[in-house]
Amino acid sequence: MVEDDPSIADAIVSGLGRNGFEPTLVTTGVDAIAAAAGADLVVLDLGLPDLDGTEVCRRIRETSAVPIIVASARSDEVDRVVLLESGADDYVVKPFGLRELVARIRAVARRTSGGADAEPAVVRVGPLTVDDRRRSVTVDGTEVPLTAREFDLLAYLARDPGGVARRSDILHDVWDPNWFGSAKTLDVHVASLRRKLGHPEWIEAVRGVGFRLVEEPNSGATPDDGPADPTDPT
Ligand code: CA
Repeated sequence: MVEDDPSIADAIVSGLGRNGFEPTLVTTGVDAIAAAAGADLVVLDLGLPDLDGTEVCRRIRETSAVPIIVASARSDEVDRVVLLESGADDYVVKPFGLRELVARIRAVARRTSGGADAEPAVVRVGPLTVDDRRRSVTVDGTEVPLTAREFDLLAYLARDPGGVARRSDILHDVWDPNWFGSAKTLDVHVASLRRKLGHPEWIEAVRGVGFRLVEEPNSGATPDDGPADPTDPT
């Protein structure tokens, strides 16, 4: 991860860590060129304090085939042709969400042979563990039996704890792009998921928007927290 703005870098680095990656942060182009040799994939900010991002891209490409995803500040500054000629594999436009970056990383890793082994791994959020590969969920080490759809929904929310997932995005990504069923289906699955996890407060309804997995769930009983009503139709 090459990013000189700590307010962006900190959130992304910790988010990538939660998604099973092992990110290393560098903050200059010179350090990026040096570190690229040992990386499985590079996420490269274009606006760096020392070197132009496309120049960094070119210099990495002189010695390495490591996949590079460029992060640029504004879409109108992105000259896609120049980027691709510089050796970038893909790009994201700031501000980007963690889910989007993770999706791009996995897509780039999939299509670049010999690139990062970035298949979904294990996400840990407090006492909750979501293992994408084994499709298993544990709370405090105890396996929680979920249906396939409940698992997909939880895994989706767990990719960005604290971040709100919009209802329409959940239905699109977890169900089907052409989902025309009742929106109530989502609420039914959330209610069931809350019940099975035994901690209804872990999945918060954000009124009028969607749902999020709380960032720091804990195992303690919190019966007075309020948002635990599984029938909340938000
Ligand atoms: Ca920057």
